[in-house]
Amino acid sequence: MSLSAAAQDLVDLESARKEYATLRDAGLKLDLTRGKPSPEQLDLSAAILSLPGANDYVSAEGIDTRNYGGVEGLIEIREIFGKLLGIPAQQLLAAGNASLNLMHDVLVHALLTPVPGAERRWVDEEEVVFLCPSPGYDRHFALTERFGIRMVPVALTGEGPDMDEVERLVASDARIKAIWCVPKYSNPTGETYSDEVVRRLAAMPTAAPDFRILWDNAYAVHDLTDEQVPLLNVLEACAEAGNPDRVFVFASTSKITLAGAGVAFFGSSAANVAWLNKVLVKQTIGPDKVNHLRHVRFFGDADGVLAHMQKHRALLEPRFEAVYEVLEAELTGIATWTRPKGGYFVSLEVPDGCAAEVVRLAKEAGIALTPAGSAFPYGKDPRDHQIRLAPSFPSVDEVREAMRAVAVCVKLAVAEQAAAK
Ligand code: PMP
Repeated sequence: MSLSAAAQDLVDLESARKEYATLRDAGLKLDLTRGKPSPEQLDLSAAILSLPGANDYVSAEGIDTRNYGGVEGLIEIREIFGKLLGIPAQQLLAAGNASLNLMHDVLVHALLTPVPGAERRWVDEEEVVFLCPSPGYDRHFALTERFGIRMVPVALTGEGPDMDEVERLVASDARIKAIWCVPKYSNPTGETYSDEVVRRLAAMPTAAPDFRILWDNAYAVHDLTDEQVPLLNVLEACAEAGNPDRVFVFASTSKITLAGAGVAFFGSSAANVAWLNKVLVKQTIGPDKVNHLRHVRFFGDADGVLAHMQKHRALLEPRFEAVYEVLEAELTGIATWTRPKGGYFVSLEVPDGCAAEVVRLAKEAGIALTPAGSAFPYGKDPRDHQIRLAPSFPSVDEVREAMRAVAVCVKLAVAEQAAAK
């Protein structure tokens, strides 16, 4: 029996309507939309607000961080994160506060300045196409759409994209210039790419000589369990496969220190880093090195980052547990959901054709959910079945309350669908 049919047997329209009416009368105002750190998480980095201190502004190399210069960023912060990301510090740039900003700029640069290996600028191609493993990160898709790049969805398998499909598409179509990847604790499915998927991405023949993997390792150290799920080193895999320039790696400390005032990173082959450096010097006289230095002072070293992440985990884990507790009690047999070992999201799958209605019902009851379909290119979930839950920001009690409300909305949407048949 399909999930829809089984689910419909489990809910009764009358009682679902009554529960929903009670919910709406409660006048809740809760928000599970964006993966923002909670104020308690931001407090973990409170010390950073008074670092590096009035008399501490010279880096280990003797650079006065207050002044212009050093477009590649402070070497000390690049060494710390180079270790965590498996990228030599010389091939890692430390930039401004947001990796999304870097992704935006790197796309603009690739459109306007040929990337290493390209025959021409992407803007001079008749059409540029990106593969978009879905469900994925809505802001990647929004960026891509904004630049007129056509998006082709590819299914995710639980250990990365469907590689048979990816290999088939890139082998024959030179218009396909890139694939978006959130390789660890993916947004929103929580999956981590297997070694085999990473190796196949690195080695697959591509019709486009300038094909790029856009490797957004946003959740590289964001474990939620004792198991640090391993991720193969993509830069090394590409080099070993004879495609050293294939990958652009992005990361940031947005969900490590302060979401609005962290440090973003770009890592790649020496040729790609030189390419970006060359265009970056036209864009800026240098990044915020004082911010780099205060991050160096705050962490000390890579182990300092990992120890700090344990404190985040202690705050996040109970919120995720609250989500599972309610889902198991209320929606077993009616919906399915992920149990990620890291990251910021739970992906809830309701019976086909119900997601938009769940989100609408929730909104009317005062619960903000990410719009249905937003994790898919052009905002269109062909099955209308996926909802991204982001439990990090509200308190544990609020998460529980919001999830109970979501469960009521799912049951009503499923019952309504059954009644309409
Ligand atoms: N990439 C992914 C996959 C994300 O989930 C997020 C935040 N939601 C970002 C990038 C944004 O990162 P930043 O703050 O560095 O722009």
